[in-house]
Amino acid sequence: MTGTTTDYEAIATAAGRELEEATAQEVLTWAADTFGKRFCVTSSMEDAVVAHLASSVFPGVDVVFLDTGYHFPETIGTRDAVAAVLPVNLITLKPLQTVAEQDAQYGPALHDRDPDLCCSLRKVEPLGRGLAGYDAWATGLRRDESPTRAGTPVVSWDPKRRKVKIAPIARWTQEDVDAYVNANGVLLNPLLWEGYTSVGCSPLSCTRKPAEGEDARAGRWSGSGKTECGIHL
Ligand code: SF4
Repeated sequence: MTGTTTDYEAIATAAGRELEEATAQEVLTWAADTFGKRFCVTSSMEDAVVAHLASSVFPGVDVVFLDTGYHFPETIGTRDAVAAVLPVNLITLKPLQTVAEQDAQYGPALHDRDPDLCCSLRKVEPLGRGLAGYDAWATGLRRDESPTRAGTPVVSWDPKRRKVKIAPIARWTQEDVDAYVNANGVLLNPLLWEGYTSVGCSPLSCTRKPAEGEDARAGRWSGSGKTECGIHL
């Protein structure tokens, strides 16, 4: 299907109402039927839940991974395992600069001094470039992950990128995720067994294990006041 931006904004608004109570599979089936190959899934490779769900209704779906150059080896391994075992077309996006080139221009460890700029260079810009060929993208955002994600719509209009944004598991709880993983043998990032509950880039200022009682994303950019990388703002 092709359509104008105005069409897609209206489609997103209507689908956001109509699919609020739909299952994740129903949401993804709607996305595949509506957008076809102009739909993709983005994955941080914390787990393969949404990639698994999407590939079950749309074999060959594009799964987009942002390789920031700062990932844990376990995350790269999870990406490679997803590409090997799921019927997906894995696409890796990279920033315009290598880490060494960024260090030369901005100084080392930009993530410790200006994480917003680092995320802008290494996540937001490459994703924007990578999504240019799509009309709709799905993410694994869930309402129970953090207070800042509590209002996540199942389907919405992404005005910044002018695309339809889909969060098929927005209404899922951690228990729902665990049940789906166990029932389907879904790949998980091994760091989840080491106490991490949200896996981002490897610098300690970007990802640490949460303390007892903290929400799942408390270990991301801990102490900086930053809660999101900018992709979902
Ligand atoms: S999460 Fe950290 S290392 Fe990764 S892009 Fe953002 S600031 Fe840079």
